[in-house]
Amino acid sequence: MAQTTPNHTQTVSGWAARDSSGKITPYVFKRRENGDDDVTIEILYCGMCHTDIHHAKNDWGITMYPLVPGHEITGIITKVGANVTKFKEGDKVGVGCLAATCLECEFCKESQENYCDKVQFTYNGIFWDGSITYGGYSKMLVADQRYVVHVPESLPMDAAAPLLCAGITVYSPMKDGGLLEKDSVAKRVGVIGLGGLGHVAVKFAKAFGHHVTVISTSPSKEQEARDRLGADDFVLSTQPKAMLAKKRTLDFIVDTVSAKHSLGPFLELLKVSGTLVVVGAPDKPMDLPSFPLIFGKRMVKGSLIGSMKETQEMLELCGKHNITCDIEVVQTDEINEALDRLAKNDVKYRFVIDIAGSPNGHHHKL
Ligand SMILES: [Zn+2]
Ligand SMILES: [Zn+2]
Repeated sequence: MAQTTPNHTQTVSGWAARDSSGKITPYVFKRRENGDDDVTIEILYCGMCHTDIHHAKNDWGITMYPLVPGHEITGIITKVGANVTKFKEGDKVGVGCLAATCLECEFCKESQENYCDKVQFTYNGIFWDGSITYGGYSKMLVADQRYVVHVPESLPMDAAAPLLCAGITVYSPMKDGGLLEKDSVAKRVGVIGLGGLGHVAVKFAKAFGHHVTVISTSPSKEQEARDRLGADDFVLSTQPKAMLAKKRTLDFIVDTVSAKHSLGPFLELLKVSGTLVVVGAPDKPMDLPSFPLIFGKRMVKGSLIGSMKETQEMLELCGKHNITCDIEVVQTDEINEALDRLAKNDVKYRFVIDIAGSPNGHHHKL
């Protein structure tokens, strides 16, 4: 589909998937002129999310090629529109998954615009002007100021990038569960899956003094969970006896696993009235047996990223507690290799593309 909107006159270098092979190659395209409510951002870094792979390969059947992925973006403001009050040139900023919402529904009005029915995402979405959105695998982005956040001075721009999706995805439900208040009572928190999302969930929980149990299928994750991330306990979900031994021990579980799995064994780990939040997104339905739900008065819920207000709050909190993602920085000519490794979960714990520092771009000294 071609851009038909007349004010898309800015030429940008980026990287795009052209078909369901998902292979990413250089792609030059147009972005809109900086409007009155827009800011223009020179992109420094962009994290690589599992969602990028699903879209690049058209796993969900909704991809509009060419696809420029990327929704974990950090950069520097280079231009602001006439109505922009929140930002000025030179500001360090971040952009996550949201590009546009309706601004009128109850969710938009109550700072829960991430649940707007008309939400449009940073890539593979349709912006207000009818154009297809292109994400952060590119040198420059034009974004409406409502969907941009400040990155605190104390956070490194590379390791902060994945907070914009991976970070907020676990922050929002944990905050909702009362775990991230200043005077939160210490709880027993379980984190299923130690990847991009899971490792940040462990960091948030530990920053607020909770007891953290990592639940994983890989024995190799135990040492890193305990030594590197400060987890208090580790359970192999492949060992029914070990799982049984932890029955009714947890108050809250964050389930970050995106492969299909039964929720039953994990629900058994919850105390009575405990909550399991699903943030991983298996594309097939998961087994949800009724007995562990009923006999433990337990709750299963979902959560989708977070609002812009929450995203800003999260970044402030990360700045204060020195919470960032553990990352591996790659150059733009390593994107395909990194996506292949990401598909195999072979990364600790997030790839971040050095957009500005890669060949064919100009360096930006911070
Ligand atoms: Zn993401
Ligand atoms: Zn709305």
